[in-house]
Amino acid sequence: MARRNKIYEGKAKILYEGPEPGTIVQYFKDDATAFNAVKKDVIEGKGVLNNRLSEFFMTGLNGIGVPTHFLKRLNMREQLVRACEIVPLEVIVRNYAAGSMSKRLGIEEGTMLPRPIVEYCYKDDALGDPLVSEEHIAAFGWASQQEMEDILSLALRVNDYMSGLMYGVGIRLVDFKIEIGRVFDGDFQRLIVADEISPDSCRLWDIESGKKMDKDVFRHDLGDLADAYTEVATRLGVMPKNGNLGDKPTLVN
Ligand code: UDP
Repeated sequence: MARRNKIYEGKAKILYEGPEPGTIVQYFKDDATAFNAVKKDVIEGKGVLNNRLSEFFMTGLNGIGVPTHFLKRLNMREQLVRACEIVPLEVIVRNYAAGSMSKRLGIEEGTMLPRPIVEYCYKDDALGDPLVSEEHIAAFGWASQQEMEDILSLALRVNDYMSGLMYGVGIRLVDFKIEIGRVFDGDFQRLIVADEISPDSCRLWDIESGKKMDKDVFRHDLGDLADAYTEVATRLGVMPKNGNLGDKPTLVN
C-alpha cells in the first residue's frame, strides 16, 4: 500500500495530502491536551466523536451559506476538506464570560455579555497564542482590512447558527474558537471556516444544571470527557440514544 503524505501533525489532528489537488484528509486523534499541552491524555473515542460533530456543524453551516472547508466524511476518524491557507489567528466569540476573559477582566464566569464579543489571538504555541488587537493584525499584515470585516461577519454567523442549534437541545454556547482559511478560485480569493468545530473548541454548558459538556471536563478533571461529548452528540441526534462508545461507537448515518 502506498504511504500517505503527512502534511502536518497537531495536538488533536493529523493532516494528510488528499486524493486530488486542493484537498486534504483530516484525521481526528484521541489525544487530549490542555494548558498548551502541559496536561495530556488519550480519551478513547474522542476523535470519532469530534470527526462526526465537526461534520455535523460544518455541513449545517454550508447549508445556510456559511462557507466551510468540509467536503465529506471518509470514515470514522477522517474527513476530506478543502486545502486552504490558514489565517494565523484564533477567532474567539464569547456570549458569556468564562476562561481567560473572566480572569483578564475579573468578570464572574457565566455572566451574560452585553453582546457577543469577538477576540483574536495570534496562533503561536510557543507564545501561548497571545491576545492581539486589530491594530496588530493590520500592522503585521496577518489579515487585510477587508478580510477582518469578512472574518467578523463569518464569526458572528457561526455564533448565531451554533447558539441556536445548541439552545434547541438545552445547551448554552458560552464561547468558541474558529479558524479561518483563504481559498483561491481563479483570480478571486475568499475566506472559509476551517479546522474543526467540536466540543474541544467550544464551551458548552447544560442550560438547566450548568453542567460542563466540553473540554473543560478534561482541563479541570470534572468527569469522563467521552461521556460528555457523547451526550452532546446524542442530544443533537448525531448519535442514537443507546449509542455506546467503545472501539466502534454506534453513530447515526
Ligand atoms: N480555545 C480553543 N483553543 C485554544 C484556545 C481557546 O479552542 O487554543 C477555545 C476554548 O475552548 C474556549 C474559547 O476558545 O471555548 C475561549 O477560550 P479562552 O480564551 O477562555 O481560553 P482558556 O480559558 O480555554 O485558556
